[in-house]
Amino acid sequence: MQDFVYRGLPAHVIFGRGTVARLGEAIAELGGKRALLLSTPQQAAQAQALTEGLEAIAGSFDGATMHTPMEVTEKALKVADEAKADCLVAFGGGSTIGLAKAIALRTDLPQIAIPTTYAGSEMTPILGQTEGGRKTTLKSEKVLPELVLYDVELTLGLPVGMSGTSGINAVAHAVEGLYAQDTNPIMRMMAADGIAKLTKALPRIVDAPQDIEARSDALYGAWLCGMVLGSVGMALHHKLCHTLGGAFDLPHAETHTIVLPHAVAYNAPAAPEAMALLSEALGGSDPAQALYDLGRAVRAPAALKDVGMPEDGIDKAADMAVENPYWNPRPIERGGIRALIARAWAGERPA
Ligand code: NAD
Repeated sequence: MQDFVYRGLPAHVIFGRGTVARLGEAIAELGGKRALLLSTPQQAAQAQALTEGLEAIAGSFDGATMHTPMEVTEKALKVADEAKADCLVAFGGGSTIGLAKAIALRTDLPQIAIPTTYAGSEMTPILGQTEGGRKTTLKSEKVLPELVLYDVELTLGLPVGMSGTSGINAVAHAVEGLYAQDTNPIMRMMAADGIAKLTKALPRIVDAPQDIEARSDALYGAWLCGMVLGSVGMALHHKLCHTLGGAFDLPHAETHTIVLPHAVAYNAPAAPEAMALLSEALGGSDPAQALYDLGRAVRAPAALKDVGMPEDGIDKAADMAVENPYWNPRPIERGGIRALIARAWAGERPA
């Protein structure tokens, strides 16, 4: 028997095919009449096309970018003010959803998220922002979107490469949820199903990006993994990716994909119950090796050296990881962490 505390976050989710057509209804449900539409420059045209003719859209801002820089948030706040916006619609991945959260934190405007990647930010009360080159993270229910519209059709165009790494980014949330210090049976159930759905769907998506069933399983899995990320504490894997990403400006989803098998191999001896669940979710194989093979199956980069990390960064990253102690099922020891980072840098199989 295991004692636990379960505290659910409020969630209102509409999931399906073509659900974006219900955006007007969703805005009205939040009491909105003048929504501000947010996107990246790359997704601006698609966002505009999908919301064309919708009276409740009062303005748009298409400057969302990675790491939620404060200058961008300030520009968007000005546009929200000029448009007299009474709610926010974030159309895109974690970067756009992060911008909506940053505006909501400062204005209390309600948010609708329409996710187009598998990153999972829409289900979390977590916001990462950058000011003067420094990224900080905060947790507040003020930033949790009030309503999430998952539309499987919007993910059909997510490029194959991004689908694989973004999906494994989601898997990483659930993997760490299995052994989190504050995990509970509900989170374990969501994590295991999220991992099983995503890891089966991702290779199918690589072969057939338009496979609606595989896309639906991946998006559903991403939702579950996002719930886990928002509900329980993360450990070594997320801390390492945060450190590496910040220190060497590495791409977010690729870094998660490369590091995950090695972080799992490091933690495996200290988390046998979580590893048994993970192995079952992955179809019975050794978890670290299976996650490494999944990366190859989705044709993701295997090595940190191939995504921009310099070799002399290995020692620096190991120092940073041990400098800042945090909870992890296995104690953080410099020797083991350095070896883990070195293998990930070279693209070797997990030890
Ligand atoms: P992203 O939002 O940065 O998107 C990457 C690029 O892909 C952008 O140009 C975007 O416009 C484009 N794109 C997105 N969906 C597309 C689609 N369906 N088709 C074509 N192009 C598409 O990538 P991401 O991985 O979703 O988000 C990463 C960011 O989110 C990071 O900054 C990360 O820290 C943050 N994040 C935050 C949380 C949280 O809980 N706060 C959780 C996960 C990620």
